Amino acid sequence: MVTRILSENEQDLRLAGEIIAAGGLVAFPTETVYGLGANALDPDAVRKIYEAKGRPSDNPTIVHIADESALKQLTWRVTPDMQRLARKYWPGPLTMVVPRRDTVPNVTTGNLDTVGVRMPDHVTARALIQAAGCPIAAPSANLSGKPSPTTVEHVIDDMDGRIDAIIRSTPCTIGIESTVIDMTGELPMILRPGFITREDVARTLGKDILVDPTLNEKPEPGVEFRPKAPGMKYKHYAPEADMIIFEGETEAVEAAMDEERAERESLGQKVVVIRYSQEDTETAAHEFFAALREADKDKADIILAAALPQEGIGFSVMNRMLKSAGYNVRKV
Ligand code: AMP
Ligand code: MG
Repeated sequence: MVTRILSENEQDLRLAGEIIAAGGLVAFPTETVYGLGANALDPDAVRKIYEAKGRPSDNPTIVHIADESALKQLTWRVTPDMQRLARKYWPGPLTMVVPRRDTVPNVTTGNLDTVGVRMPDHVTARALIQAAGCPIAAPSANLSGKPSPTTVEHVIDDMDGRIDAIIRSTPCTIGIESTVIDMTGELPMILRPGFITREDVARTLGKDILVDPTLNEKPEPGVEFRPKAPGMKYKHYAPEADMIIFEGETEAVEAAMDEERAERESLGQKVVVIRYSQEDTETAAHEFFAALREADKDKADIILAAALPQEGIGFSVMNRMLKSAGYNVRKV
């Protein structure tokens, strides 16, 4: 298949909308990461997403909408809490898991009776949804297991020849995927941490927000690992290189990383170091996936990464970092 590279002008967005409406696949920019979109209500189209990505079929997609009224087409229950969160965070990087209507096909939700819905804050993403005239199911536009794509080059690397079109845009401003929050229980529960934090949502709703207890915990061998978002159980964000996360006081971490690096380099290994300011976790979120892909391009043998404080956005970046390192943490 020849993949067309489209721009963000009106004519190209109209064409991209036609491709989606006709059951094709288009990768498009959002503020979080690039998404791989199909008509969310067309099971054959959504099935192609799973094929192109090599994604396990029980890992649901997120359904993207361009205006709040579309929420009612997807769910029969809109609660005051959902309305409050939509008003505060939409358009933006928050996905709400809600009961689904029968109009949403099984393949879109990985056979769950709930559906994840989000309104993206990227003008191009919303223009595409409007041009297509349907909600767009879209996971991240990477091959399954690889880091999520935050630039169009990442998308081209993974998807060229596998999908109908890619919309070229600038790098994603946030850089990690949306916060996923389950709105079907007594209290809302964070299933995937993101740029919008538990603390943010708790402040908005004025109530306790639960967090899936399996997040950022190393799976116990022999014990079934069952995070509530099915996608969280799979191998994720895996660079080609091995990876070690160093955790501890800043100076001790620096010293241990320098020592490890020198030792590895003396053995002729290619070492990549990933280190961010402990205060500026937004930059870490923005850079992390690109840094993993860069390490692959550089043919790194080993990645040494400094842990971030596990609060706020730091918790969300650590969620990705722990997965990419296979929970290989060295406490110093
Ligand atoms: P991605 O689109 O690659 O960001 O992946 C979507 C993420 O949202 C995966 O981790 C899914 O498991 C999660 N997700 C989407 N819909 C649901 C749902 N209905 N219930 C729980 N998790 C969901
Ligand atoms: Mg993904």
